[in-house]
Amino acid sequence: MPQTQNQTDVLFDSPAAADPLAVLKRVYGYPAFRGRQAEVVDRVVSGGDAVVLFPTGAGKSLCFQIPALCRPGVGIVVSPLIALMRDQVEALKQLGVRAAALNSSLSREEFMDVRSAIARGELDLLYVTPERIVTQGFKDMIGNAKIALFAIDEAHCVSQWGHDFRPEYRELGHLGEAYPGVPRIALTATADPHTREDIIDKLGLRTAEVFTTSFDRPNIAYEIVERDQPRQQLLRFLARHKGSSGIVYCLSRAKVEDTAEWLNKQGIRAKAYHAGMERADREMNQDAFLKEEDLCLVATVAFGMGIDKPNVRYVAHLDLPGSVEAYYQETGRAGRDGLPSDAWMTYGMADVIQRGRMIDGGTSTEDVKRVERAKLNALLGICESAGCRRQAILAHFGEAHKGNCGNCDTCLKPVETWDGTDAAIKALAAIYRTGERFGAGHLIDVLMGNENDKTARFGHTEMPVFGAGRDIPAKTWQSVYRQLLAAGLVSVDHEAFGALKLVPDEARAVFKHEREVRFRKDRPAAAKGSRRQSSGASSAKSALEPADGELFEALRAARMAIAKELSVPPYVVFPDTTLVAFATERPMDREALLSISGVGQSKLERYGDAFLKVIREFGR
Ligand code: ADP
Ligand code: ZN
Repeated sequence: MPQTQNQTDVLFDSPAAADPLAVLKRVYGYPAFRGRQAEVVDRVVSGGDAVVLFPTGAGKSLCFQIPALCRPGVGIVVSPLIALMRDQVEALKQLGVRAAALNSSLSREEFMDVRSAIARGELDLLYVTPERIVTQGFKDMIGNAKIALFAIDEAHCVSQWGHDFRPEYRELGHLGEAYPGVPRIALTATADPHTREDIIDKLGLRTAEVFTTSFDRPNIAYEIVERDQPRQQLLRFLARHKGSSGIVYCLSRAKVEDTAEWLNKQGIRAKAYHAGMERADREMNQDAFLKEEDLCLVATVAFGMGIDKPNVRYVAHLDLPGSVEAYYQETGRAGRDGLPSDAWMTYGMADVIQRGRMIDGGTSTEDVKRVERAKLNALLGICESAGCRRQAILAHFGEAHKGNCGNCDTCLKPVETWDGTDAAIKALAAIYRTGERFGAGHLIDVLMGNENDKTARFGHTEMPVFGAGRDIPAKTWQSVYRQLLAAGLVSVDHEAFGALKLVPDEARAVFKHEREVRFRKDRPAAAKGSRRQSSGASSAKSALEPADGELFEALRAARMAIAKELSVPPYVVFPDTTLVAFATERPMDREALLSISGVGQSKLERYGDAFLKVIREFGR
């Protein structure tokens, strides 16, 4: 291992090294454990198994890294993506932890180095893929070495239920028998009951203690807007995030490429990522996203798993995600560092039709299709909700939230609703009278009394409903049909190219005035996206006094220079939160620096002086 002796000393010279809190302070420079971290750490340090279901950003990594440092032997971490192991290992090395990743890109020599470091008990953490860990070669390599623990990261990959299913994860169920007495800890941010059950069952963790916390991400602001002119809407949204990094999700590869190209023409630095790209190009763009601080990555959902860049400031969806679960996971990639971040989405009727067609036209069994339709409807319910988005989302995961979160679009600007019973009756009548054979566009033509080829040809101009909806603008009718869908009064017939049909019992109740219908009012276009102005650099800076903001920028520049030199992402040097504390508290010597959260022994040695110099130049 290319590890120097003094790095070892940083960790283990102290008799207190085996105390988790001492390790947290000394190695990571954090003053205290967060949430339930301490409980998990205690459990694993004492040899127990654990299943950890914490949301993104809660700090799952420490839950296995610290026990690995406190227990004798090497901690083995199973992680699904090789490309991302590199960054994690690099971040650990910066902390003075002896870490390595086993992957096919290692030379024979490097491989032998890892092997002998393990044999000598001089490796703290070893990252491996699930494919490799079950091979004979790996067992031979581990030999009789002491193993501190097995950590199974992204444990939801074991579940066929989720969208990241990796069959190799199933094999990990044998680790318990193969290595008796070695504690195992499985971690994920996906915790719907089905996936949770699969993790416990398929990984053989029946006797493990399960640790959960609230899944709320209070620093993420949710906003869902009606699609109007999506590119302009996106541009207005991105204007709030100048100088920071984020992800824009699109459904198709073609749209990813078009959108990235268009954004560049608009002066926004954007790169594309999708599974159809050459591997080298894809990895290059991913790497740029990790290492640069003002890049917009336009991607399909192929991008994201295992990305632990902490300062992703926004996640935008130009298309409807696959489900509430997918939406939450994708938006959850924003704001791991706990600083304010935005989850923004445009959505329209076309999404509903397209999604539905993908489900119905797929090859799945009828049962699976039914589940998929239910998932789509749950998502529509959240899109059309007039109440707190956070409350609606968390309710989907079975978590009660009191509502009025103050950090979603509907809470910040309460949606007005209107009594839509008469409008609903007209909209439903238009469907019924025209034989349940037409999509929303034509139905709106009928309601508005638009004479065109189609309305004439089918004799719809002669019907009483023709022109019956002129009292309401066409745009509002679109919103009415979307909301009727979301409310389950209408369904889409995908066999008939997206024709709308009545849901008989529900629609009848409306016709008979047994059911009142309220609709949310669409917001006027000008009001969209004007909620919060996050100024340049990052929202970390916007919270600072101007003078501190200047120092923050200087610190950011110093960090970028170091990161470039080492070819690591800037956050591996120090996270934004630490730079903010430098800027506001202005430590003037090493001791003061060490008292700041995120500054441990190793980083103090490596970078302390470089940052002190910048701070001293600014003075108190
Ligand atoms: P997760 O894997 O749960 O998404 P991470 O392990 O990546 O979260 O942690 C998110 C961020 O929070 C990281 O920057 C990490 O260093 C930081 N962090 C974790 N635990 C603590 C703590 N106890 N005190 C301060 N920062 C922490
Ligand atoms: Zn809210």
